Amino acid sequence: MEQRATKIVATLGPASSDPRVLEALVHAGVDVVRLNFSHGTPEDHRKRVKALRDASQKAGRTVGVMADLQGPKIRIGKFGTGKVSLAAGRMFILDAACKLGDDTRVGLDYPELIDDVAPGDVLLLDDGRTVFDVERIEGSEIHCRNRHEAELSNNKGINKQGGGLSAPALTPKDMEDIQTAASLNVDYVAVSFPKSGGDLRQAKELLVLAGSDALVVAKIERVEAVANLEEILHATDGVMVARGDLAVEVGDAAVPALQKRIIRLAREHNKFTITATQMMESMIHSPVPTRAEVSDVANAVLDGTDAVMLSAETASGEYPVHTVEAMARICVEAEKSQEVGLDAHFLNRMFTRIDQSIAMAALFTAYHLKVKAVAALTESGSTALWMSRLNSGVPIYALTPRIRTRYRVSIFRDVFPLLTTYVAEDRDQLLWHAEETLIAAGAVEIGDLIVLTIGEPIGQAGGTNTLKIVRVGENRPTTTQDV
Ligand code: PGA
Ligand code: MN
Repeated sequence: MEQRATKIVATLGPASSDPRVLEALVHAGVDVVRLNFSHGTPEDHRKRVKALRDASQKAGRTVGVMADLQGPKIRIGKFGTGKVSLAAGRMFILDAACKLGDDTRVGLDYPELIDDVAPGDVLLLDDGRTVFDVERIEGSEIHCRNRHEAELSNNKGINKQGGGLSAPALTPKDMEDIQTAASLNVDYVAVSFPKSGGDLRQAKELLVLAGSDALVVAKIERVEAVANLEEILHATDGVMVARGDLAVEVGDAAVPALQKRIIRLAREHNKFTITATQMMESMIHSPVPTRAEVSDVANAVLDGTDAVMLSAETASGEYPVHTVEAMARICVEAEKSQEVGLDAHFLNRMFTRIDQSIAMAALFTAYHLKVKAVAALTESGSTALWMSRLNSGVPIYALTPRIRTRYRVSIFRDVFPLLTTYVAEDRDQLLWHAEETLIAAGAVEIGDLIVLTIGEPIGQAGGTNTLKIVRVGENRPTTTQDV
Protein backbone atom coordinates (compact mmCIF):
# COMPACT_ATOMS: atom_id res chain seq x y z
CA MET A 1 0.00 0.00 0.00
CA GLU A 2 1.33 3.43 -0.89
CA GLN A 3 1.98 5.68 2.07
CA ARG A 4 -0.95 8.03 2.60
CA ALA A 5 -0.74 11.21 4.65
CA THR A 6 -4.49 11.91 4.92
CA LYS A 7 -6.33 9.69 7.36
CA ILE A 8 -9.61 7.84 6.87
CA VAL A 9 -12.36 7.70 9.51
CA ALA A 10 -14.99 5.01 8.93
CA THR A 11 -18.27 4.76 10.80
CA LEU A 12 -19.12 1.28 12.06
CA GLY A 13 -22.60 -0.16 11.77
CA PRO A 14 -24.45 -3.26 10.61
CA ALA A 15 -22.50 -3.35 7.32
CA SER A 16 -19.16 -3.41 9.12
CA SER A 17 -19.83 -5.52 12.20
CA ASP A 18 -18.76 -8.85 10.75
CA PRO A 19 -15.17 -9.52 11.92
CA ARG A 20 -14.10 -10.39 8.38
CA VAL A 21 -15.45 -7.13 6.98
CA LEU A 22 -13.81 -5.26 9.83
CA GLU A 23 -10.50 -6.90 9.07
CA ALA A 24 -10.84 -6.06 5.39
CA LEU A 25 -11.60 -2.43 6.29
CA VAL A 26 -8.50 -2.21 8.47
CA HIS A 27 -6.47 -3.72 5.64
CA ALA A 28 -7.96 -1.29 3.16
CA GLY A 29 -6.62 1.59 5.27
CA VAL A 30 -9.07 2.75 7.94
CA ASP A 31 -7.13 4.80 10.50
CA VAL A 32 -9.93 5.64 12.93
CA VAL A 33 -13.35 4.08 13.42
CA ARG A 34 -16.35 6.11 14.50
CA LEU A 35 -18.98 4.76 16.85
CA ASN A 36 -22.18 6.65 16.17
CA PHE A 37 -23.96 7.02 19.51
CA SER A 38 -27.16 8.09 17.70
CA HIS A 39 -27.66 4.39 17.02
CA GLY A 40 -27.07 1.23 19.00
CA THR A 41 -26.70 0.28 22.65
CA PRO A 42 -23.60 0.52 24.84
CA GLU A 43 -23.31 -3.23 24.40
CA ASP A 44 -23.25 -2.86 20.58
CA HIS A 45 -20.43 -0.33 20.88
CA ARG A 46 -18.53 -2.51 23.31
CA LYS A 47 -18.69 -5.47 20.92
CA ARG A 48 -17.55 -3.31 18.01
CA VAL A 49 -14.56 -1.93 19.89
CA LYS A 50 -13.52 -5.44 20.91
CA ALA A 51 -13.81 -6.73 17.33
CA LEU A 52 -11.93 -3.70 16.02
CA ARG A 53 -9.07 -4.09 18.48
CA ASP A 54 -8.80 -7.78 17.46
CA ALA A 55 -8.84 -6.91 13.75
CA SER A 56 -6.23 -4.17 14.05
CA GLN A 57 -3.98 -6.39 16.14
CA LYS A 58 -4.17 -9.08 13.47
CA ALA A 59 -3.40 -6.60 10.71
CA GLY A 60 -0.62 -4.95 12.72
CA ARG A 61 -2.13 -1.51 12.16
CA THR A 62 -2.92 1.23 14.65
CA VAL A 63 -6.59 2.17 14.48
CA GLY A 64 -8.04 4.84 16.78
CA VAL A 65 -11.61 4.83 18.10
CA MET A 66 -13.91 7.85 18.09
CA ALA A 67 -17.21 8.02 19.99
CA ASP A 68 -19.60 10.46 18.32
CA LEU A 69 -22.24 11.70 20.78
CA GLN A 70 -25.79 12.14 19.51
CA GLY A 71 -26.23 15.64 20.90
CA PRO A 72 -29.51 17.56 20.87
CA LYS A 73 -30.68 16.47 17.46
CA ILE A 74 -34.37 17.36 17.43
CA ARG A 75 -36.53 14.70 15.88
CA ILE A 76 -40.16 14.20 14.95
CA GLY A 77 -42.01 11.26 16.50
CA LYS A 78 -43.38 8.19 14.81
CA PHE A 79 -46.28 7.78 12.37
CA GLY A 80 -49.00 5.13 12.75
CA THR A 81 -48.07 3.97 9.26
CA GLY A 82 -44.30 4.49 9.51
CA LYS A 83 -44.34 7.22 6.89
CA VAL A 84 -46.65 9.68 5.16
CA SER A 85 -46.72 11.58 1.88
CA LEU A 86 -47.27 15.31 2.01
CA ALA A 87 -48.47 17.33 -0.96
CA ALA A 88 -46.87 20.68 -1.78
CA GLY A 89 -48.69 23.61 -0.11
CA ARG A 90 -50.43 21.45 2.48
CA MET A 91 -50.56 22.47 6.15
CA PHE A 92 -48.89 20.15 8.67
CA ILE A 93 -48.64 20.35 12.47
CA LEU A 94 -45.66 19.60 14.68
CA ASP A 95 -47.13 18.90 18.10
CA ALA A 96 -45.18 17.74 21.14
CA ALA A 97 -48.44 16.40 22.61
CA CYS A 98 -49.12 14.11 19.64
CA LYS A 99 -48.44 10.46 20.43
CA LEU A 100 -48.69 8.81 17.02
CA GLY A 101 -48.57 10.83 13.83
CA ASP A 102 -50.69 10.79 10.68
CA ASP A 103 -50.77 12.90 7.51
CA THR A 104 -51.89 15.99 9.43
CA ARG A 105 -49.56 16.04 12.44
CA VAL A 106 -46.69 14.33 14.20
CA GLY A 107 -45.01 14.38 17.64
CA LEU A 108 -41.73 16.03 18.65
CA ASP A 109 -39.04 14.83 21.05
CA TYR A 110 -38.18 18.40 22.10
CA PRO A 111 -41.24 20.31 23.34
CA GLU A 112 -39.10 23.46 23.83
CA LEU A 113 -38.91 23.83 20.05
CA ILE A 114 -42.12 25.80 20.36
CA ASP A 115 -40.20 28.58 22.20
CA ASP A 116 -37.46 28.71 19.55
CA VAL A 117 -39.64 29.25 16.47
CA ALA A 118 -41.80 32.09 15.22
CA PRO A 119 -44.01 32.65 12.16
CA GLY A 120 -41.78 33.11 9.11
CA ASP A 121 -39.13 30.64 10.29
CA VAL A 122 -38.09 27.81 8.00
CA LEU A 123 -37.77 24.30 9.45
CA LEU A 124 -35.83 21.71 7.50
CA LEU A 125 -36.59 18.06 8.07
CA ASP A 126 -34.72 14.99 6.94
CA ASP A 127 -31.48 16.89 6.11
CA GLY A 128 -33.42 19.48 4.18
CA ARG A 129 -35.39 17.15 1.93
CA THR A 130 -38.60 18.46 3.50
CA VAL A 131 -39.08 22.20 4.00
CA PHE A 132 -41.71 23.66 6.35
CA ASP A 133 -42.58 27.36 6.55
CA VAL A 134 -43.85 28.15 10.04
CA GLU A 135 -47.15 30.08 9.77
CA ARG A 136 -48.39 30.22 13.37
CA ILE A 137 -48.08 28.76 16.84
CA GLU A 138 -51.18 27.58 18.71
CA GLY A 139 -50.72 26.15 22.20
CA SER A 140 -48.38 23.18 21.82
CA GLU A 141 -48.79 23.16 18.02
CA ILE A 142 -46.48 24.55 15.35
CA HIS A 143 -48.52 25.03 12.18
CA CYS A 144 -46.38 24.75 9.06
CA ARG A 145 -46.91 24.89 5.34
CA ASN A 146 -45.10 22.16 3.43
CA ARG A 147 -43.14 23.70 0.54
CA HIS A 148 -42.49 20.76 -1.80
CA GLU A 149 -44.11 17.39 -2.24
CA ALA A 150 -42.39 15.18 0.33
CA GLU A 151 -42.33 11.86 2.06
CA LEU A 152 -41.74 11.94 5.80
CA SER A 153 -40.90 8.91 7.89
CA ASN A 154 -40.37 8.12 11.59
CA ASN A 155 -37.88 10.07 13.73
CA LYS A 156 -36.48 12.33 11.02
CA GLY A 157 -34.31 15.20 12.26
CA ILE A 158 -35.37 18.85 12.35
CA ASN A 159 -33.09 21.86 11.83
CA LYS A 160 -33.93 25.52 11.82
CA GLN A 161 -32.53 27.52 8.95
CA GLY A 162 -30.19 30.19 10.25
CA GLY A 163 -29.77 28.49 13.63
CA GLY A 164 -31.17 29.72 16.94
CA LEU A 165 -32.20 26.48 18.63
CA SER A 166 -31.74 26.70 22.37
CA ALA A 167 -31.05 23.02 23.17
CA PRO A 168 -27.81 22.59 25.14
CA ALA A 169 -25.04 20.62 23.41
CA LEU A 170 -24.82 17.87 26.00
CA THR A 171 -28.06 16.02 26.72
CA PRO A 172 -28.58 13.62 29.64
CA LYS A 173 -28.09 10.77 27.16
CA ASP A 174 -24.76 12.28 26.05
CA MET A 175 -23.63 12.43 29.66
CA GLU A 176 -24.35 8.73 30.06
CA ASP A 177 -22.67 7.99 26.76
CA ILE A 178 -19.55 9.83 27.94
CA GLN A 179 -19.36 7.25 30.75
CA THR A 180 -19.67 4.45 28.21
CA ALA A 181 -17.06 6.04 25.96
CA ALA A 182 -14.68 6.35 28.90
CA SER A 183 -15.19 2.73 29.86
CA LEU A 184 -14.46 1.71 26.25
CA ASN A 185 -11.18 3.62 26.44
CA VAL A 186 -11.93 5.54 23.24
CA ASP A 187 -9.30 7.88 21.83
CA TYR A 188 -11.58 10.69 20.63
CA VAL A 189 -15.03 11.96 21.59
CA ALA A 190 -16.98 14.08 19.10
CA VAL A 191 -19.42 16.61 20.56
CA SER A 192 -22.46 17.26 18.36
CA PHE A 193 -24.01 20.73 17.91
CA PRO A 194 -21.70 22.72 20.23
CA LYS A 195 -22.34 26.45 20.18
CA SER A 196 -19.45 27.73 22.25
CA GLY A 197 -16.11 26.89 23.79
CA GLY A 198 -17.97 26.23 27.05
CA ASP A 199 -19.70 23.20 25.51
CA LEU A 200 -16.32 21.65 24.72
CA ARG A 201 -14.90 22.46 28.13
CA GLN A 202 -17.91 20.82 29.75
CA ALA A 203 -17.44 17.67 27.66
CA LYS A 204 -13.76 17.58 28.54
CA GLU A 205 -14.54 17.95 32.26
CA LEU A 206 -17.07 15.13 32.18
CA LEU A 207 -14.56 12.94 30.37
CA VAL A 208 -11.84 13.65 32.91
CA LEU A 209 -14.28 12.90 35.75
CA ALA A 210 -15.08 9.59 34.02
CA GLY A 211 -11.37 8.81 33.89
CA SER A 212 -10.88 9.41 30.17
CA ASP A 213 -8.09 11.37 28.48
CA ALA A 214 -9.81 11.23 25.07
CA LEU A 215 -9.24 14.13 22.70
CA VAL A 216 -12.42 16.11 22.02
CA VAL A 217 -13.71 16.97 18.56
CA ALA A 218 -16.09 19.88 18.05
CA LYS A 219 -18.56 19.17 15.27
CA ILE A 220 -19.10 22.44 13.45
CA GLU A 221 -22.74 22.13 12.43
CA ARG A 222 -24.50 25.16 13.88
CA VAL A 223 -24.61 28.76 12.78
CA GLU A 224 -23.50 29.74 16.30
CA ALA A 225 -20.45 27.45 16.07
CA VAL A 226 -19.34 29.22 12.89
CA ALA A 227 -19.70 32.56 14.63
CA ASN A 228 -17.73 31.31 17.66
CA LEU A 229 -15.16 29.34 15.70
CA GLU A 230 -12.05 30.91 17.28
CA GLU A 231 -13.37 30.41 20.79
CA ILE A 232 -14.29 26.80 20.00
CA LEU A 233 -10.83 26.17 18.53
CA HIS A 234 -9.24 27.30 21.77
CA ALA A 235 -11.36 24.86 23.77
CA THR A 236 -11.16 21.76 21.58
CA ASP A 237 -8.49 19.34 20.34
CA GLY A 238 -9.98 18.92 16.89
CA VAL A 239 -12.94 19.93 14.73
CA MET A 240 -15.22 18.16 12.31
CA VAL A 241 -16.63 19.94 9.29
CA ALA A 242 -20.03 18.29 9.83
CA ARG A 243 -21.43 19.16 6.44
CA GLY A 244 -24.75 17.34 6.89
CA ASP A 245 -26.25 19.56 9.55
CA LEU A 246 -24.03 22.53 8.71
CA ALA A 247 -25.45 22.71 5.18
CA VAL A 248 -28.97 22.76 6.53
CA GLU A 249 -28.25 25.55 9.02
CA VAL A 250 -26.11 27.85 6.86
CA GLY A 251 -27.37 26.89 3.40
CA ASP A 252 -25.59 24.29 1.27
CA ALA A 253 -23.86 26.78 -1.01
CA ALA A 254 -21.97 28.35 1.90
CA VAL A 255 -20.36 25.07 2.96
CA PRO A 256 -17.41 24.69 0.53
CA ALA A 257 -15.91 28.06 1.49
CA LEU A 258 -16.57 27.38 5.17
CA GLN A 259 -14.82 24.03 4.89
CA LYS A 260 -11.67 25.78 3.65
CA ARG A 261 -11.84 28.42 6.36
CA ILE A 262 -12.43 25.94 9.19
CA ILE A 263 -9.52 23.74 8.07
CA ARG A 264 -7.13 26.67 7.68
CA LEU A 265 -8.03 28.23 11.04
CA ALA A 266 -7.84 24.89 12.83
CA ARG A 267 -4.34 24.26 11.51
CA GLU A 268 -3.26 27.70 12.60
CA HIS A 269 -4.53 26.91 16.10
CA ASN A 270 -2.70 23.55 16.17
CA LYS A 271 -5.93 21.57 16.00
CA PHE A 272 -6.80 18.62 13.77
CA THR A 273 -9.69 18.45 11.30
CA ILE A 274 -12.09 15.86 9.94
CA THR A 275 -14.11 16.53 6.78
CA ALA A 276 -17.37 14.61 6.98
CA THR A 277 -20.63 13.59 5.36
CA GLN A 278 -21.64 12.39 1.91
CA MET A 279 -18.04 12.18 0.70
CA MET A 280 -18.71 8.91 -1.11
CA GLU A 281 -22.50 8.86 -0.72
CA SER A 282 -23.28 7.07 -4.00
CA MET A 283 -21.10 4.16 -2.91
CA ILE A 284 -23.77 3.17 -0.41
CA HIS A 285 -25.27 1.41 -3.43
CA SER A 286 -22.54 1.52 -6.06
CA PRO A 287 -19.09 -0.10 -6.25
CA VAL A 288 -17.60 3.02 -7.86
CA PRO A 289 -17.76 6.69 -6.80
CA THR A 290 -19.11 9.52 -8.94
CA ARG A 291 -16.72 12.02 -10.52
CA ALA A 292 -18.06 14.65 -8.15
CA GLU A 293 -17.25 12.50 -5.11
CA VAL A 294 -13.72 11.86 -6.34
CA SER A 295 -13.24 15.61 -6.68
CA ASP A 296 -14.78 16.27 -3.28
CA VAL A 297 -12.39 13.91 -1.47
CA ALA A 298 -9.40 15.23 -3.44
CA ASN A 299 -10.35 18.83 -2.72
CA ALA A 300 -10.67 18.15 1.01
CA VAL A 301 -7.13 16.73 0.86
CA LEU A 302 -5.94 19.86 -0.94
CA ASP A 303 -7.74 22.01 1.65
CA GLY A 304 -5.42 20.39 4.18
CA THR A 305 -7.86 18.24 6.17
CA ASP A 306 -6.28 15.70 8.51
CA ALA A 307 -8.95 13.11 7.85
CA VAL A 308 -11.84 12.35 5.53
CA MET A 309 -14.83 10.56 7.01
CA LEU A 310 -17.30 7.93 5.85
CA SER A 311 -20.74 7.60 7.44
CA ALA A 312 -23.46 5.41 5.95
CA GLU A 313 -20.99 4.26 3.27
CA THR A 314 -19.29 1.96 5.77
CA ALA A 315 -22.01 1.74 8.45
CA SER A 316 -24.86 0.47 6.30
CA GLY A 317 -23.69 0.56 2.69
CA GLU A 318 -23.35 -2.32 0.28
CA TYR A 319 -19.67 -1.72 -0.52
CA PRO A 320 -17.86 -0.68 2.67
CA VAL A 321 -14.46 -2.10 1.71
CA HIS A 322 -14.58 -0.81 -1.88
CA THR A 323 -15.39 2.62 -0.50
CA VAL A 324 -12.35 2.75 1.78
CA GLU A 325 -10.11 1.46 -1.02
CA ALA A 326 -11.38 4.11 -3.41
CA MET A 327 -11.01 6.85 -0.80
CA ALA A 328 -7.44 5.80 -0.02
CA ARG A 329 -6.53 5.83 -3.70
CA ILE A 330 -7.99 9.31 -4.21
CA CYS A 331 -6.14 10.71 -1.17
CA VAL A 332 -2.78 9.33 -2.30
CA GLU A 333 -3.19 10.80 -5.77
CA ALA A 334 -4.35 14.20 -4.49
CA GLU A 335 -1.40 14.38 -2.08
CA LYS A 336 1.00 14.11 -5.02
CA SER A 337 -0.27 17.37 -6.43
CA GLN A 338 -0.41 19.37 -3.21
CA GLU A 339 1.89 22.28 -2.67
CA VAL A 340 4.70 21.61 -0.27
CA GLY A 341 6.37 24.46 1.53
CA LEU A 342 6.70 26.47 4.67
CA ASP A 343 4.70 29.59 4.03
CA ALA A 344 5.12 33.07 5.40
CA HIS A 345 2.60 32.27 8.07
CA PHE A 346 4.95 29.61 9.40
CA LEU A 347 7.91 31.94 9.39
CA ASN A 348 5.98 34.60 11.26
CA ARG A 349 4.56 32.23 13.81
CA MET A 350 4.92 33.18 17.46
CA PHE A 351 5.65 30.57 20.08
CA THR A 352 7.29 30.57 23.48
CA ARG A 353 7.35 26.92 24.49
CA ILE A 354 10.63 25.05 24.27
CA ASP A 355 9.06 21.83 22.96
CA GLN A 356 7.14 23.74 20.30
CA SER A 357 10.32 25.58 19.25
CA ILE A 358 12.09 22.27 18.79
CA ALA A 359 9.17 20.91 16.76
CA MET A 360 9.23 23.95 14.45
CA ALA A 361 13.03 23.85 14.16
CA ALA A 362 12.83 20.16 13.23
CA LEU A 363 10.36 20.91 10.50
CA PHE A 364 12.42 23.79 9.15
CA THR A 365 15.54 21.62 9.11
CA ALA A 366 13.77 18.64 7.62
CA TYR A 367 12.34 20.75 4.83
CA HIS A 368 15.61 22.41 3.88
CA LEU A 369 17.85 19.36 4.21
CA LYS A 370 15.26 17.25 2.36
CA VAL A 371 15.58 14.49 4.95
CA LYS A 372 13.87 11.13 4.58
CA ALA A 373 11.85 11.38 7.79
CA VAL A 374 11.27 13.28 10.96
CA ALA A 375 11.15 11.07 14.02
CA ALA A 376 9.68 12.51 17.18
CA LEU A 377 10.22 10.57 20.39
CA THR A 378 7.08 11.72 22.09
CA GLU A 379 5.18 10.99 25.26
CA SER A 380 2.01 12.98 24.69
CA GLY A 381 2.04 13.25 20.89
CA SER A 382 1.95 17.04 20.88
CA THR A 383 5.34 17.38 19.19
CA ALA A 384 3.98 15.32 16.29
CA LEU A 385 0.81 17.42 16.18
CA TRP A 386 2.74 20.70 15.91
CA MET A 387 4.99 19.31 13.21
CA SER A 388 2.05 18.09 11.20
CA ARG A 389 0.28 21.48 11.11
CA LEU A 390 2.52 22.47 8.22
CA ASN A 391 3.00 20.67 5.01
CA SER A 392 6.75 20.12 4.83
CA GLY A 393 6.46 17.09 2.54
CA VAL A 394 8.42 14.96 5.02
CA PRO A 395 6.68 12.10 6.85
CA ILE A 396 6.60 12.39 10.64
CA TYR A 397 7.04 9.26 12.71
CA ALA A 398 5.73 9.49 16.24
CA LEU A 399 7.83 7.08 18.27
CA THR A 400 6.22 6.51 21.59
CA PRO A 401 6.30 3.93 24.34
CA ARG A 402 2.72 4.86 25.28
CA ILE A 403 -0.01 2.79 23.66
CA ARG A 404 -2.52 5.60 24.30
CA THR A 405 -0.38 8.12 22.45
CA ARG A 406 0.01 5.77 19.53
CA TYR A 407 -3.76 5.79 19.09
CA ARG A 408 -4.19 9.51 19.70
CA VAL A 409 -1.84 10.53 16.90
CA SER A 410 -3.49 8.18 14.39
CA ILE A 411 -5.76 10.94 13.08
CA PHE A 412 -3.02 13.55 12.46
CA ARG A 413 -2.17 14.07 8.84
CA ASP A 414 1.34 12.99 7.87
CA VAL A 415 1.94 11.35 11.25
CA PHE A 416 2.70 7.64 11.46
CA PRO A 417 2.62 6.10 14.93
CA LEU A 418 5.28 3.59 15.89
CA LEU A 419 5.51 1.87 19.21
CA THR A 420 8.95 1.81 20.73
CA THR A 421 10.36 0.80 24.07
CA TYR A 422 12.93 2.62 26.12
CA VAL A 423 15.25 -0.34 26.18
CA ALA A 424 18.21 1.22 27.82
CA GLU A 425 19.23 4.04 30.08
CA ASP A 426 22.09 4.76 27.76
CA ARG A 427 21.26 7.58 25.35
CA ASP A 428 23.18 6.15 22.38
CA GLN A 429 21.53 2.78 22.81
CA LEU A 430 18.18 4.45 22.98
CA LEU A 431 18.67 6.51 19.86
CA TRP A 432 19.92 3.51 17.95
CA HIS A 433 16.84 1.63 19.04
CA ALA A 434 14.71 4.45 17.63
CA GLU A 435 16.58 4.13 14.32
CA GLU A 436 16.06 0.38 14.39
CA THR A 437 12.34 0.87 14.93
CA LEU A 438 12.22 3.13 11.85
CA ILE A 439 14.19 0.64 9.76
CA ALA A 440 11.96 -2.24 10.87
CA ALA A 441 8.90 -0.22 9.84
CA GLY A 442 10.37 0.33 6.39
CA ALA A 443 10.48 4.10 6.98
CA VAL A 444 14.23 4.55 6.47
CA GLU A 445 17.35 2.67 5.43
CA ILE A 446 20.95 2.75 6.61
CA GLY A 447 22.53 5.92 5.27
CA ASP A 448 19.32 8.02 5.11
CA LEU A 449 19.38 11.44 6.68
CA ILE A 450 16.71 11.95 9.37
CA VAL A 451 15.79 14.52 11.97
CA LEU A 452 15.16 13.25 15.49
CA THR A 453 13.57 15.14 18.36
CA ILE A 454 13.98 13.98 21.93
CA GLY A 455 13.11 15.16 25.40
CA GLU A 456 15.92 14.80 27.86
CA PRO A 457 15.86 13.38 30.44
CA ILE A 458 13.92 10.79 28.48
CA GLY A 459 10.43 9.74 29.53
CA GLN A 460 8.76 13.00 30.56
CA ALA A 461 5.79 14.44 28.67
CA GLY A 462 6.24 17.97 27.37
CA GLY A 463 9.99 17.70 27.65
CA THR A 464 11.10 17.81 24.01
CA ASN A 465 14.22 19.94 24.09
CA THR A 466 16.70 18.34 21.70
CA LEU A 467 17.02 18.24 17.94
CA LYS A 468 19.45 15.85 16.33
CA ILE A 469 20.29 15.35 12.67
CA VAL A 470 21.34 11.79 12.13
CA ARG A 471 22.56 9.67 9.26
CA VAL A 472 20.91 6.34 9.99
CA GLY A 473 23.39 3.75 11.26
CA GLU A 474 26.25 6.16 11.77
CA ASN A 475 25.87 6.40 15.52
CA ARG A 476 25.31 2.76 16.13
CA PRO A 477 26.89 1.94 19.48
CA THR A 478 29.71 -0.51 18.99
CA THR A 479 30.69 -1.18 22.53
CA THR A 480 27.61 -2.79 24.00
CA GLN A 481 25.14 -5.52 23.24
CA ASP A 482 22.66 -5.33 20.39
CA VAL A 483 19.28 -3.97 21.32
P1 PGA B 1 -24.00 13.37 12.01
O1 PGA B 1 -22.85 14.46 11.95
O2 PGA B 1 -23.75 12.41 10.90
O3 PGA B 1 -23.84 12.79 13.36
O4 PGA B 1 -25.24 14.17 11.86
C1 PGA B 1 -22.19 14.82 10.77
C2 PGA B 1 -22.91 15.90 10.01
O5 PGA B 1 -23.86 16.52 10.47
O6 PGA B 1 -22.42 16.15 8.88
MN1 MN C 1 -24.67 16.23 12.39
